[in-house]
Amino acid sequence: MYMLYKLRSQGLAVQGIERGDGVGGTWYWNRYPGARCDVESMEYSYQFDDALQQEWEWNERYAPQAEILSYANHVADRFDLRPNFQFETSVESAVFDEATSRWLVTTSRGETYSAQWCVMATGCLSSTNLPNFEGLEDFAGDWFHTGLWPKAGVDFAGKRVAVVGTGSSAIQSIPVIAQQAASLTVFQRTANFSIPAHNGPLAPKFVEQIKSDYTHFRKINNETFSGFGGRWRKYDDSILAADEQKRETRFNEKWALGGFHFLNSFADVGASPDHNKFAADYAKNKIRGIVNDPATAELLCPDQVIGCKRLCVDSGYFETFNRDNVKLVNVKDNPIERVTPKGLVTGGEEYEFDIIVFATGFDAMTGSLLSIDIKGRNSQPLQEKWAAGPRTYLGLQTHGFPNLFTISGPGSPSVLTNMVVSIEQHVNWISRCINHMRLNQMNYIEAELGAEDEWVEHNNSLSELTLFPGCNSWYLGANVPGKPRVFMPYVGGFQNYVAKCEDVVHNGYKGFLMQARA
Ligand SMILES: Cc1cc2nc3c(=O)[nH]c(=O)nc-3n(C[C@H](O)[C@H](O)[C@H](O)COP(=O)(O)OP(=O)(O)OC[C@H]3O[C@@H](n4cnc5c(N)ncnc54)[C@H](O)[C@@H]3O)c2cc1C
Repeated sequence: MYMLYKLRSQGLAVQGIERGDGVGGTWYWNRYPGARCDVESMEYSYQFDDALQQEWEWNERYAPQAEILSYANHVADRFDLRPNFQFETSVESAVFDEATSRWLVTTSRGETYSAQWCVMATGCLSSTNLPNFEGLEDFAGDWFHTGLWPKAGVDFAGKRVAVVGTGSSAIQSIPVIAQQAASLTVFQRTANFSIPAHNGPLAPKFVEQIKSDYTHFRKINNETFSGFGGRWRKYDDSILAADEQKRETRFNEKWALGGFHFLNSFADVGASPDHNKFAADYAKNKIRGIVNDPATAELLCPDQVIGCKRLCVDSGYFETFNRDNVKLVNVKDNPIERVTPKGLVTGGEEYEFDIIVFATGFDAMTGSLLSIDIKGRNSQPLQEKWAAGPRTYLGLQTHGFPNLFTISGPGSPSVLTNMVVSIEQHVNWISRCINHMRLNQMNYIEAELGAEDEWVEHNNSLSELTLFPGCNSWYLGANVPGKPRVFMPYVGGFQNYVAKCEDVVHNGYKGFLMQARA
Protein backbone atom coordinates (compact mmCIF):
# COMPACT_ATOMS: atom_id res chain seq x y z
CA MET A 1 0.00 0.00 0.00
CA TYR A 2 2.77 2.43 0.89
CA MET A 3 4.75 1.56 -2.25
CA LEU A 4 1.69 2.22 -4.37
CA TYR A 5 0.98 5.49 -2.58
CA LYS A 6 4.57 6.66 -2.88
CA LEU A 7 5.09 5.87 -6.57
CA ARG A 8 1.71 7.29 -7.47
CA SER A 9 2.67 10.52 -5.67
CA GLN A 10 5.79 10.62 -7.86
CA GLY A 11 3.60 10.64 -10.95
CA LEU A 12 3.95 7.00 -12.01
CA ALA A 13 1.06 4.90 -13.23
CA VAL A 14 0.88 2.13 -10.63
CA GLN A 15 -1.07 -1.11 -10.67
CA GLY A 16 -1.35 -3.10 -7.46
CA ILE A 17 -2.29 -6.77 -7.80
CA GLU A 18 -3.57 -8.60 -4.73
CA ARG A 19 -4.78 -12.17 -4.28
CA GLY A 20 -7.17 -11.34 -1.45
CA ASP A 21 -10.42 -9.44 -1.91
CA GLY A 22 -9.18 -6.64 0.30
CA VAL A 23 -6.10 -4.98 1.77
CA GLY A 24 -4.23 -6.00 4.92
CA GLY A 25 -1.97 -8.86 3.77
CA THR A 26 -0.94 -10.82 6.86
CA TRP A 27 -3.82 -9.33 8.84
CA TYR A 28 -6.30 -10.16 6.09
CA TRP A 29 -5.35 -13.86 5.95
CA ASN A 30 -4.43 -14.64 9.59
CA ARG A 31 -7.83 -14.31 11.27
CA TYR A 32 -7.30 -17.20 13.65
CA PRO A 33 -8.48 -16.72 17.24
CA GLY A 34 -5.90 -14.88 19.30
CA ALA A 35 -4.00 -13.48 16.28
CA ARG A 36 -2.19 -10.43 17.49
CA CYS A 37 0.88 -8.33 16.83
CA ASP A 38 4.01 -8.97 18.91
CA VAL A 39 5.31 -5.45 18.37
CA GLU A 40 3.53 -2.77 20.37
CA SER A 41 0.72 -1.04 18.50
CA MET A 42 2.14 2.49 18.92
CA GLU A 43 5.17 1.21 17.01
CA TYR A 44 3.62 -1.24 14.51
CA SER A 45 2.12 1.41 12.22
CA TYR A 46 3.13 3.73 9.40
CA GLN A 47 5.18 6.81 10.17
CA PHE A 48 5.15 8.40 6.71
CA ASP A 49 2.17 10.64 7.41
CA ASP A 50 1.91 12.56 10.64
CA ALA A 51 -1.82 13.20 10.38
CA LEU A 52 -2.39 9.46 9.99
CA GLN A 53 -0.43 8.55 13.09
CA GLN A 54 -2.09 11.33 15.07
CA GLU A 55 -5.65 10.42 14.14
CA TRP A 56 -5.50 6.63 14.49
CA GLU A 57 -6.42 5.33 17.95
CA TRP A 58 -4.97 2.02 19.08
CA ASN A 59 -6.77 0.40 21.99
CA GLU A 60 -4.39 -2.20 23.34
CA ARG A 61 -0.67 -2.46 23.98
CA TYR A 62 -0.51 -5.24 21.36
CA ALA A 63 -3.12 -4.82 18.64
CA PRO A 64 -5.33 -7.78 17.74
CA GLN A 65 -5.64 -8.86 14.10
CA ALA A 66 -9.06 -7.23 13.59
CA GLU A 67 -7.76 -3.86 14.73
CA ILE A 68 -4.73 -3.96 12.41
CA LEU A 69 -7.01 -5.00 9.54
CA SER A 70 -9.24 -1.97 10.29
CA TYR A 71 -6.14 0.18 10.30
CA ALA A 72 -5.07 -1.17 6.89
CA ASN A 73 -8.55 -0.44 5.53
CA HIS A 74 -8.42 3.04 7.01
CA VAL A 75 -5.07 3.68 5.28
CA ALA A 76 -6.48 2.39 1.97
CA ASP A 77 -9.47 4.72 2.22
CA ARG A 78 -7.61 7.72 3.56
CA PHE A 79 -5.14 7.69 0.65
CA ASP A 80 -7.69 6.42 -1.87
CA LEU A 81 -5.58 3.40 -2.75
CA ARG A 82 -8.32 0.94 -3.76
CA PRO A 83 -8.82 2.22 -7.33
CA ASN A 84 -5.18 1.29 -8.08
CA PHE A 85 -5.54 -2.27 -6.79
CA GLN A 86 -6.89 -5.21 -8.65
CA PHE A 87 -8.14 -7.62 -5.97
CA GLU A 88 -8.90 -11.35 -6.15
CA THR A 89 -6.10 -11.66 -8.67
CA SER A 90 -2.87 -13.62 -8.37
CA VAL A 91 0.32 -12.88 -10.21
CA GLU A 92 1.32 -16.12 -11.88
CA SER A 93 4.36 -15.08 -13.88
CA ALA A 94 6.69 -12.15 -14.39
CA VAL A 95 9.05 -12.28 -17.36
CA PHE A 96 11.71 -9.71 -18.22
CA ASP A 97 11.60 -8.61 -21.82
CA GLU A 98 15.15 -7.67 -22.78
CA ALA A 99 14.14 -5.87 -25.97
CA THR A 100 12.14 -3.28 -24.05
CA SER A 101 13.62 -3.66 -20.55
CA ARG A 102 10.10 -4.18 -19.24
CA TRP A 103 8.42 -6.83 -17.14
CA LEU A 104 5.48 -8.74 -18.53
CA VAL A 105 3.31 -9.70 -15.60
CA THR A 106 0.60 -12.30 -16.11
CA THR A 107 -2.27 -12.83 -13.70
CA SER A 108 -4.77 -15.54 -12.81
CA ARG A 109 -7.36 -13.54 -14.79
CA GLY A 110 -5.33 -14.09 -17.95
CA GLU A 111 -4.26 -10.47 -18.35
CA THR A 112 -0.68 -9.38 -19.02
CA TYR A 113 0.63 -6.07 -17.75
CA SER A 114 3.76 -4.49 -19.17
CA ALA A 115 5.69 -2.56 -16.52
CA GLN A 116 8.95 -0.66 -16.42
CA TRP A 117 9.43 -1.50 -12.76
CA CYS A 118 8.14 -4.49 -10.89
CA VAL A 119 8.06 -4.44 -7.10
CA MET A 120 7.40 -7.71 -5.31
CA ALA A 121 5.60 -6.85 -2.05
CA THR A 122 4.44 -10.43 -1.74
CA GLY A 123 5.24 -10.82 1.96
CA CYS A 124 7.74 -12.87 3.94
CA LEU A 125 5.12 -14.91 5.76
CA SER A 126 2.37 -15.22 3.20
CA SER A 127 2.98 -18.59 1.60
CA THR A 128 1.46 -21.14 3.97
CA ASN A 129 3.31 -24.32 4.82
CA LEU A 130 1.07 -27.36 5.05
CA PRO A 131 2.99 -30.61 5.52
CA ASN A 132 1.98 -33.28 3.09
CA PHE A 133 -0.11 -35.42 5.47
CA GLU A 134 -1.31 -38.62 3.84
CA GLY A 135 -5.08 -39.03 4.04
CA LEU A 136 -5.96 -35.37 4.68
CA GLU A 137 -8.49 -35.38 1.85
CA ASP A 138 -10.40 -38.21 3.59
CA PHE A 139 -10.76 -36.41 6.94
CA ALA A 140 -14.50 -36.31 7.70
CA GLY A 141 -14.30 -33.25 9.94
CA ASP A 142 -13.16 -29.70 9.10
CA TRP A 143 -9.58 -28.59 8.89
CA PHE A 144 -8.01 -25.15 8.67
CA HIS A 145 -4.58 -23.55 8.33
CA THR A 146 -4.11 -20.57 10.66
CA GLY A 147 -2.71 -18.52 7.78
CA LEU A 148 -5.81 -19.01 5.59
CA TRP A 149 -8.48 -18.57 8.23
CA PRO A 150 -12.11 -18.27 7.03
CA LYS A 151 -13.63 -14.81 7.28
CA ALA A 152 -16.74 -16.19 8.96
CA GLY A 153 -14.65 -17.65 11.79
CA VAL A 154 -14.79 -21.18 13.18
CA ASP A 155 -17.20 -22.35 15.87
CA PHE A 156 -15.31 -24.62 18.26
CA ALA A 157 -18.15 -24.99 20.78
CA GLY A 158 -18.64 -28.62 21.80
CA LYS A 159 -15.97 -29.80 19.34
CA ARG A 160 -12.97 -32.09 19.74
CA VAL A 161 -10.14 -30.02 18.33
CA ALA A 162 -6.53 -30.75 17.36
CA VAL A 163 -3.88 -28.08 16.93
CA VAL A 164 -0.83 -29.25 15.01
CA GLY A 165 2.24 -27.14 15.74
CA THR A 166 3.48 -25.04 18.63
CA GLY A 167 4.97 -21.99 16.89
CA SER A 168 3.76 -18.43 17.23
CA SER A 169 0.30 -18.90 15.62
CA ALA A 170 -0.37 -21.97 17.78
CA ILE A 171 0.83 -20.23 20.93
CA GLN A 172 -1.56 -17.35 20.23
CA SER A 173 -4.56 -19.45 19.26
CA ILE A 174 -4.36 -22.35 21.74
CA PRO A 175 -5.50 -20.36 24.83
CA VAL A 176 -8.53 -19.01 22.95
CA ILE A 177 -9.51 -22.29 21.28
CA ALA A 178 -9.20 -24.14 24.61
CA GLN A 179 -11.80 -21.85 26.16
CA GLN A 180 -14.32 -22.68 23.44
CA ALA A 181 -13.71 -26.31 22.53
CA ALA A 182 -14.98 -29.43 24.31
CA SER A 183 -11.43 -30.76 24.17
CA LEU A 184 -8.15 -29.61 22.68
CA THR A 185 -5.18 -31.82 21.83
CA VAL A 186 -1.94 -30.08 20.94
CA PHE A 187 0.57 -31.97 18.77
CA GLN A 188 4.06 -30.66 19.49
CA ARG A 189 7.20 -31.43 17.49
CA THR A 190 9.42 -28.68 18.92
CA ALA A 191 8.75 -26.89 22.19
CA ASN A 192 9.15 -23.12 21.87
CA PHE A 193 10.10 -20.36 24.23
CA SER A 194 7.35 -17.86 24.85
CA ILE A 195 7.38 -14.71 26.95
CA PRO A 196 4.16 -13.27 28.39
CA ALA A 197 2.85 -10.23 26.49
CA HIS A 198 1.27 -8.57 29.53
CA ASN A 199 -1.20 -7.13 27.07
CA GLY A 200 -3.80 -4.65 28.23
CA PRO A 201 -5.59 -1.43 27.34
CA LEU A 202 -3.38 1.48 26.35
CA ALA A 203 -3.36 4.26 28.93
CA PRO A 204 -4.58 7.52 27.34
CA LYS A 205 -1.78 9.43 29.06
CA PHE A 206 0.85 7.17 27.48
CA VAL A 207 -0.71 7.61 24.03
CA GLU A 208 -0.90 11.36 24.52
CA GLN A 209 2.72 11.49 25.55
CA ILE A 210 3.85 9.63 22.41
CA LYS A 211 1.61 11.62 20.10
CA SER A 212 2.92 14.87 21.53
CA ASP A 213 6.29 13.97 19.95
CA TYR A 214 5.76 11.00 17.66
CA THR A 215 8.83 12.04 15.63
CA HIS A 216 11.12 11.48 18.58
CA PHE A 217 9.42 8.18 19.43
CA ARG A 218 9.91 6.95 15.86
CA LYS A 219 13.50 8.15 15.84
CA ILE A 220 14.54 6.24 18.94
CA ASN A 221 12.90 3.10 17.58
CA ASN A 222 14.41 3.49 14.10
CA GLU A 223 17.86 3.73 15.64
CA THR A 224 17.67 0.31 17.31
CA PHE A 225 18.92 -3.06 16.14
CA SER A 226 15.38 -4.31 15.41
CA GLY A 227 13.44 -1.12 14.72
CA PHE A 228 11.39 -1.21 17.92
CA GLY A 229 11.53 -0.86 21.68
CA GLY A 230 13.84 2.17 21.67
CA ARG A 231 12.41 3.51 24.91
CA TRP A 232 13.35 0.44 26.91
CA ARG A 233 16.71 0.16 28.53
CA LYS A 234 19.18 -2.17 26.84
CA TYR A 235 21.88 -3.31 29.19
CA ASP A 236 25.45 -3.48 27.99
CA ASP A 237 26.91 -5.66 30.75
CA SER A 238 27.78 -9.32 30.46
CA ILE A 239 25.67 -12.16 31.73
CA LEU A 240 28.83 -14.02 32.77
CA ALA A 241 30.04 -11.14 34.92
CA ALA A 242 26.76 -11.02 36.88
CA ASP A 243 26.20 -13.03 40.04
CA GLU A 244 23.11 -15.15 40.54
CA GLN A 245 21.16 -12.44 42.32
CA LYS A 246 21.87 -9.85 39.64
CA ARG A 247 20.82 -12.25 36.91
CA GLU A 248 17.59 -13.06 38.74
CA THR A 249 16.78 -9.37 39.27
CA ARG A 250 17.48 -8.53 35.65
CA PHE A 251 15.49 -11.46 34.25
CA ASN A 252 12.60 -10.62 36.57
CA GLU A 253 12.61 -7.04 35.31
CA LYS A 254 12.54 -8.00 31.63
CA TRP A 255 10.05 -10.84 32.16
CA ALA A 256 7.71 -8.38 33.85
CA LEU A 257 8.11 -5.99 30.92
CA GLY A 258 7.07 -8.82 28.61
CA GLY A 259 7.65 -9.70 24.98
CA PHE A 260 10.91 -9.71 23.05
CA HIS A 261 12.65 -7.42 25.55
CA PHE A 262 13.59 -10.43 27.65
CA LEU A 263 16.49 -11.06 25.24
CA ASN A 264 17.92 -7.65 26.20
CA SER A 265 18.40 -8.65 29.84
CA PHE A 266 22.15 -8.59 29.21
CA ALA A 267 24.26 -7.55 26.24
CA ASP A 268 25.45 -11.05 25.45
CA VAL A 269 22.51 -13.44 25.86
CA GLY A 270 23.16 -14.60 22.29
CA ALA A 271 26.95 -14.75 22.48
CA SER A 272 27.32 -18.48 23.11
CA PRO A 273 25.30 -21.43 24.40
CA ASP A 274 27.00 -20.94 27.78
CA HIS A 275 25.83 -17.34 28.02
CA ASN A 276 22.42 -18.23 26.70
CA LYS A 277 21.85 -21.06 29.17
CA PHE A 278 21.15 -18.67 32.05
CA ALA A 279 18.29 -16.98 30.20
CA ALA A 280 16.98 -20.28 28.80
CA ASP A 281 17.02 -21.91 32.25
CA TYR A 282 15.15 -18.95 33.73
CA ALA A 283 12.45 -19.21 31.05
CA LYS A 284 12.21 -23.00 31.53
CA ASN A 285 11.80 -22.57 35.27
CA LYS A 286 8.94 -20.18 34.57
CA ILE A 287 7.26 -22.94 32.53
CA ARG A 288 7.80 -25.42 35.36
CA GLY A 289 6.31 -22.90 37.77
CA ILE A 290 3.19 -22.40 35.66
CA VAL A 291 2.36 -25.91 34.41
CA ASN A 292 1.02 -28.15 37.19
CA ASP A 293 1.77 -31.55 35.66
CA PRO A 294 5.57 -32.06 35.80
CA ALA A 295 5.67 -34.36 32.75
CA THR A 296 3.74 -31.86 30.62
CA ALA A 297 5.94 -29.03 31.92
CA GLU A 298 9.08 -30.91 30.87
CA LEU A 299 7.65 -31.56 27.41
CA LEU A 300 6.93 -27.84 27.07
CA CYS A 301 10.50 -26.92 27.98
CA PRO A 302 12.47 -26.21 24.79
CA ASP A 303 15.83 -27.89 24.31
CA GLN A 304 17.28 -25.26 21.97
CA VAL A 305 18.92 -21.98 22.96
CA ILE A 306 16.54 -19.10 23.58
CA GLY A 307 16.13 -16.62 20.72
CA CYS A 308 17.50 -18.66 17.83
CA LYS A 309 13.99 -19.59 16.77
CA ARG A 310 11.64 -16.62 16.63
CA LEU A 311 10.65 -15.88 20.20
CA CYS A 312 6.91 -16.18 20.84
CA VAL A 313 4.84 -13.76 22.88
CA ASP A 314 1.75 -15.15 24.58
CA SER A 315 -1.29 -14.46 26.69
CA GLY A 316 -1.83 -17.49 28.91
CA TYR A 317 -0.22 -20.16 26.72
CA PHE A 318 1.46 -22.32 29.35
CA GLU A 319 -1.44 -21.81 31.80
CA THR A 320 -3.74 -23.40 29.20
CA PHE A 321 -2.09 -26.78 29.82
CA ASN A 322 -3.56 -26.78 33.34
CA ARG A 323 -7.08 -27.01 31.92
CA ASP A 324 -8.84 -30.36 32.15
CA ASN A 325 -9.86 -30.22 28.48
CA VAL A 326 -6.30 -29.73 27.14
CA LYS A 327 -3.78 -32.43 26.38
CA LEU A 328 -0.24 -32.31 24.93
CA VAL A 329 1.02 -35.02 22.57
CA ASN A 330 4.72 -35.16 21.79
CA VAL A 331 5.29 -35.95 18.12
CA LYS A 332 9.02 -35.32 18.11
CA ASP A 333 9.95 -38.99 18.20
CA ASN A 334 6.67 -40.29 16.77
CA PRO A 335 5.73 -37.93 13.93
CA ILE A 336 2.14 -37.74 12.76
CA GLU A 337 1.86 -40.77 10.47
CA ARG A 338 -1.32 -39.94 8.62
CA VAL A 339 -4.73 -38.35 8.75
CA THR A 340 -7.68 -40.73 8.87
CA PRO A 341 -11.39 -40.02 8.30
CA LYS A 342 -11.68 -39.72 12.10
CA GLY A 343 -8.50 -37.88 13.06
CA LEU A 344 -4.73 -38.26 13.33
CA VAL A 345 -2.42 -41.23 13.91
CA THR A 346 0.84 -40.94 15.81
CA GLY A 347 2.83 -43.64 17.57
CA GLY A 348 0.34 -46.21 16.24
CA GLU A 349 -2.52 -44.54 18.16
CA GLU A 350 -5.50 -42.88 16.49
CA TYR A 351 -6.82 -39.61 17.99
CA GLU A 352 -10.33 -38.60 16.95
CA PHE A 353 -11.34 -35.02 16.15
CA ASP A 354 -14.08 -32.85 14.70
CA ILE A 355 -11.68 -30.07 13.71
CA ILE A 356 -7.95 -30.03 12.94
CA VAL A 357 -6.10 -26.71 13.01
CA PHE A 358 -2.74 -26.71 11.24
CA ALA A 359 -0.59 -24.02 12.82
CA THR A 360 2.30 -25.16 10.67
CA GLY A 361 3.57 -21.76 9.59
CA PHE A 362 4.96 -20.52 6.33
CA ASP A 363 7.46 -21.13 3.57
CA ALA A 364 9.12 -17.99 4.84
CA MET A 365 10.85 -15.22 2.91
CA THR A 366 11.22 -17.02 -0.43
CA GLY A 367 7.96 -19.02 -0.66
CA SER A 368 5.72 -16.34 -2.14
CA LEU A 369 8.42 -15.21 -4.61
CA LEU A 370 9.33 -18.69 -5.82
CA SER A 371 5.70 -19.66 -6.29
CA ILE A 372 5.55 -17.05 -9.09
CA ASP A 373 7.21 -18.02 -12.37
CA ILE A 374 9.77 -15.19 -12.41
CA LYS A 375 12.19 -15.16 -15.34
CA GLY A 376 14.97 -12.60 -15.65
CA ARG A 377 17.59 -11.94 -18.29
CA ASN A 378 18.31 -14.87 -20.63
CA SER A 379 14.99 -16.35 -19.41
CA GLN A 380 16.69 -17.50 -16.22
CA PRO A 381 14.08 -18.65 -13.69
CA LEU A 382 14.41 -17.22 -10.18
CA GLN A 383 13.85 -20.78 -8.92
CA GLU A 384 17.06 -21.77 -10.70
CA LYS A 385 19.05 -18.77 -9.51
CA TRP A 386 17.99 -19.38 -5.90
CA ALA A 387 18.19 -23.19 -6.05
CA ALA A 388 20.88 -23.24 -3.34
CA GLY A 389 19.23 -20.42 -1.37
CA PRO A 390 18.33 -16.79 -2.05
CA ARG A 391 21.02 -14.42 -3.35
CA THR A 392 20.39 -10.68 -3.29
CA TYR A 393 22.14 -7.38 -2.98
CA LEU A 394 20.79 -5.66 0.16
CA GLY A 395 17.65 -7.77 -0.12
CA LEU A 396 16.47 -5.22 -2.68
CA GLN A 397 17.48 -6.79 -5.98
CA THR A 398 18.96 -9.96 -7.39
CA HIS A 399 21.50 -9.99 -10.24
CA GLY A 400 20.01 -11.07 -13.55
CA PHE A 401 16.60 -9.64 -12.68
CA PRO A 402 16.81 -5.97 -13.68
CA ASN A 403 14.17 -3.44 -12.64
CA LEU A 404 12.72 -5.96 -10.17
CA PHE A 405 12.71 -4.97 -6.50
CA THR A 406 11.75 -6.97 -3.45
CA ILE A 407 10.33 -5.43 -0.29
CA SER A 408 11.72 -7.00 2.88
CA GLY A 409 13.36 -9.63 0.70
CA PRO A 410 15.92 -12.20 1.86
CA GLY A 411 19.19 -10.46 2.67
CA SER A 412 17.42 -7.55 4.38
CA PRO A 413 16.64 -7.28 8.14
CA SER A 414 12.98 -8.02 7.46
CA VAL A 415 11.58 -10.59 9.89
CA LEU A 416 14.20 -9.75 12.54
CA THR A 417 12.66 -6.30 12.88
CA ASN A 418 9.45 -4.37 13.35
CA MET A 419 8.43 -5.05 9.79
CA VAL A 420 6.44 -1.90 9.19
CA VAL A 421 9.61 0.07 9.83
CA SER A 422 11.62 -2.14 7.46
CA ILE A 423 8.92 -1.95 4.82
CA GLU A 424 8.81 1.84 4.96
CA GLN A 425 12.60 2.02 4.69
CA HIS A 426 12.53 -0.21 1.59
CA VAL A 427 9.71 1.73 0.00
CA ASN A 428 11.53 5.01 0.60
CA TRP A 429 14.75 3.59 -0.85
CA ILE A 430 13.08 2.09 -3.94
CA SER A 431 10.97 5.16 -4.70
CA ARG A 432 14.00 7.44 -4.33
CA CYS A 433 15.98 5.16 -6.64
CA ILE A 434 13.25 5.15 -9.29
CA ASN A 435 12.92 8.90 -9.00
CA HIS A 436 16.66 9.32 -9.45
CA MET A 437 16.59 7.15 -12.55
CA ARG A 438 13.69 8.98 -14.11
CA LEU A 439 15.32 12.34 -13.46
CA ASN A 440 18.44 11.04 -15.19
CA GLN A 441 16.57 9.41 -18.08
CA MET A 442 17.60 5.91 -17.06
CA ASN A 443 15.35 2.91 -17.38
CA TYR A 444 17.56 -0.03 -16.38
CA ILE A 445 18.91 -1.00 -12.96
CA GLU A 446 20.49 -4.28 -12.01
CA ALA A 447 22.41 -5.40 -8.95
CA GLU A 448 25.98 -6.25 -9.92
CA LEU A 449 27.09 -9.82 -9.42
CA GLY A 450 30.17 -8.86 -7.38
CA ALA A 451 28.14 -6.64 -5.04
CA GLU A 452 25.61 -9.42 -4.58
CA ASP A 453 28.29 -12.04 -3.87
CA GLU A 454 29.89 -9.76 -1.29
CA TRP A 455 26.55 -9.06 0.37
CA VAL A 456 25.65 -12.75 0.57
CA GLU A 457 29.11 -13.52 1.96
CA HIS A 458 28.82 -10.66 4.48
CA ASN A 459 25.44 -11.86 5.73
CA ASN A 460 26.56 -15.49 5.92
CA SER A 461 29.67 -14.62 7.88
CA LEU A 462 27.69 -12.42 10.28
CA SER A 463 25.09 -15.11 10.88
CA GLU A 464 27.84 -17.63 11.65
CA LEU A 465 28.89 -15.42 14.56
CA THR A 466 25.42 -15.86 16.08
CA LEU A 467 23.51 -18.78 17.55
CA PHE A 468 20.94 -18.66 14.73
CA PRO A 469 22.43 -21.39 12.50
CA GLY A 470 22.21 -23.92 15.34
CA CYS A 471 18.40 -24.19 15.45
CA ASN A 472 15.94 -25.69 13.01
CA SER A 473 14.09 -22.43 12.44
CA TRP A 474 12.07 -21.03 9.57
CA TYR A 475 14.72 -18.28 9.33
CA LEU A 476 16.87 -21.09 7.88
CA GLY A 477 14.07 -22.72 5.91
CA ALA A 478 14.31 -25.79 8.18
CA ASN A 479 10.52 -26.12 8.50
CA VAL A 480 10.07 -26.88 4.80
CA PRO A 481 11.38 -30.26 3.61
CA GLY A 482 14.03 -29.89 0.89
CA LYS A 483 14.47 -26.13 1.34
CA PRO A 484 18.17 -25.10 1.26
CA ARG A 485 19.48 -24.33 4.72
CA VAL A 486 20.51 -20.69 4.48
CA PHE A 487 20.02 -17.96 7.07
CA MET A 488 17.78 -15.62 5.08
CA PRO A 489 17.30 -12.30 6.92
CA TYR A 490 20.17 -9.82 7.31
CA VAL A 491 21.48 -10.24 10.83
CA GLY A 492 23.66 -7.13 11.14
CA GLY A 493 20.95 -4.95 12.66
CA PHE A 494 18.39 -2.55 11.24
CA GLN A 495 20.31 0.65 11.99
CA ASN A 496 23.52 -0.71 10.42
CA TYR A 497 21.58 -1.92 7.41
CA VAL A 498 20.01 1.51 6.89
CA ALA A 499 23.47 3.09 7.05
CA LYS A 500 24.69 0.66 4.36
CA CYS A 501 21.71 1.42 2.11
CA GLU A 502 22.34 5.16 2.49
CA ASP A 503 26.02 4.69 1.81
CA VAL A 504 25.19 2.94 -1.47
CA VAL A 505 23.06 5.92 -2.54
CA HIS A 506 25.67 8.48 -1.53
CA ASN A 507 28.22 6.59 -3.58
CA GLY A 508 26.17 6.84 -6.77
CA TYR A 509 24.18 3.62 -6.22
CA LYS A 510 27.37 1.65 -5.81
CA GLY A 511 26.91 -2.00 -6.69
CA PHE A 512 24.03 -1.31 -9.05
CA LEU A 513 24.35 -0.98 -12.82
CA MET A 514 22.16 1.94 -13.95
CA GLN A 515 21.69 2.77 -17.60
CA ALA A 516 19.54 4.31 -20.27
CA ARG A 517 18.58 1.61 -22.74
CA ALA A 518 16.68 1.85 -25.97
C1 LIG B 1 0.58 -14.36 12.25
C2 LIG B 1 1.60 -13.33 11.96
C3 LIG B 1 1.97 -12.43 12.93
C4 LIG B 1 2.92 -11.46 12.66
N1 LIG B 1 3.29 -10.62 13.65
C5 LIG B 1 4.21 -9.66 13.40
C6 LIG B 1 4.63 -8.77 14.42
O1 LIG B 1 4.22 -8.88 15.56
N2 LIG B 1 5.54 -7.81 14.11
C7 LIG B 1 6.06 -7.69 12.86
O2 LIG B 1 6.87 -6.81 12.63
N3 LIG B 1 5.68 -8.54 11.88
C8 LIG B 1 4.79 -9.52 12.12
N4 LIG B 1 4.43 -10.38 11.13
C9 LIG B 1 5.04 -10.24 9.81
C10 LIG B 1 4.08 -9.53 8.83
O3 LIG B 1 3.99 -10.36 7.71
C11 LIG B 1 4.59 -8.15 8.50
O4 LIG B 1 4.62 -7.38 9.68
C12 LIG B 1 3.79 -7.38 7.45
O5 LIG B 1 2.42 -7.60 7.54
C13 LIG B 1 4.26 -7.70 6.06
O6 LIG B 1 3.63 -6.87 5.15
P1 LIG B 1 3.83 -7.09 3.60
O7 LIG B 1 2.92 -6.15 2.93
O8 LIG B 1 5.26 -7.08 3.25
O9 LIG B 1 3.38 -8.60 3.37
P2 LIG B 1 1.99 -9.29 3.64
O10 LIG B 1 1.26 -8.60 4.72
O11 LIG B 1 2.27 -10.73 3.79
O12 LIG B 1 1.21 -9.02 2.28
C14 LIG B 1 1.61 -9.65 1.09
C15 LIG B 1 0.42 -9.68 0.18
O13 LIG B 1 0.83 -10.16 -1.09
C16 LIG B 1 -0.21 -10.97 -1.61
N5 LIG B 1 0.40 -11.89 -2.57
C17 LIG B 1 1.41 -12.76 -2.36
N6 LIG B 1 1.71 -13.41 -3.49
C18 LIG B 1 0.86 -12.94 -4.44
C19 LIG B 1 0.67 -13.20 -5.81
N7 LIG B 1 1.42 -14.10 -6.46
N8 LIG B 1 -0.30 -12.53 -6.48
C20 LIG B 1 -1.07 -11.60 -5.84
N9 LIG B 1 -0.93 -11.30 -4.54
C21 LIG B 1 0.02 -11.97 -3.85
C22 LIG B 1 -0.78 -11.69 -0.42
O14 LIG B 1 -2.11 -12.07 -0.65
C23 LIG B 1 -0.68 -10.62 0.66
O15 LIG B 1 -1.87 -9.91 0.80
C24 LIG B 1 3.50 -11.39 11.38
C25 LIG B 1 3.16 -12.31 10.40
C26 LIG B 1 2.22 -13.28 10.69
C27 LIG B 1 1.85 -14.26 9.62
